[in-house]
Amino acid sequence: MNLVLLGSPGSGKGTQARAISTKLNLVHFSPGDTFWAEMGKKTPLGQEVGDYVSQGRLVPDSLIIRILKEKFSAEKRGLLLDGFPRTMEQVEELDKWLASRSAAVDAVVYLNLPEAEAIKRLEGRRVCPGCGMVYNLVTSKPLLENVCDKCSGPISARADDSANIVKQRIMVYRDQTEPLISHYRSDTEFIEIKATQPLQAITAQILARLKL
Ligand SMILES: [Zn+2]
Repeated sequence: MNLVLLGSPGSGKGTQARAISTKLNLVHFSPGDTFWAEMGKKTPLGQEVGDYVSQGRLVPDSLIIRILKEKFSAEKRGLLLDGFPRTMEQVEELDKWLASRSAAVDAVVYLNLPEAEAIKRLEGRRVCPGCGMVYNLVTSKPLLENVCDKCSGPISARADDSANIVKQRIMVYRDQTEPLISHYRSDTEFIEIKATQPLQAITAQILARLKL
């Protein structure tokens, strides 16, 4: 099974993707997570994407497609795609690649979050540069203010979580990704979930509504 998870920045997509991929033994692909990992390790790929990300710009389709093919061409398990596809061009590239593997997108899960709530959550996001733990001042605070629970290092906001960049990302999402919602809604097994619910309730609903 190949699953696409859609939702605005801040909708909790990444958290759900990790839970669902573990439950269903799918390979989790998040371009965002891949970029941060490569940037943290200062690899050539990390430097290539770093210029885009620090300015709040989207990494070009061609680069993301290249990463997808390089990482997963030999993969036999199904994929859980989180933060990809993001544009109609990416939808077409993904369909072509899956078709070449005699596969397709089998279901789409859409985490629907109101825009004001998305902005509030994104501006509250913090990360530990030391160990990579992610916190949120709205939904999951650290025990001590600005201190990582896991490694006791200082936590900070990421460059792409500042107020201007957050609004810009939401606008880009609206322009580029919302057309995917209407596309998949008419074309694919489409599961819409209210993203304001507690995390475990969302996971349970996704699993219950997927035709496994
Ligand atoms: Zn830490």
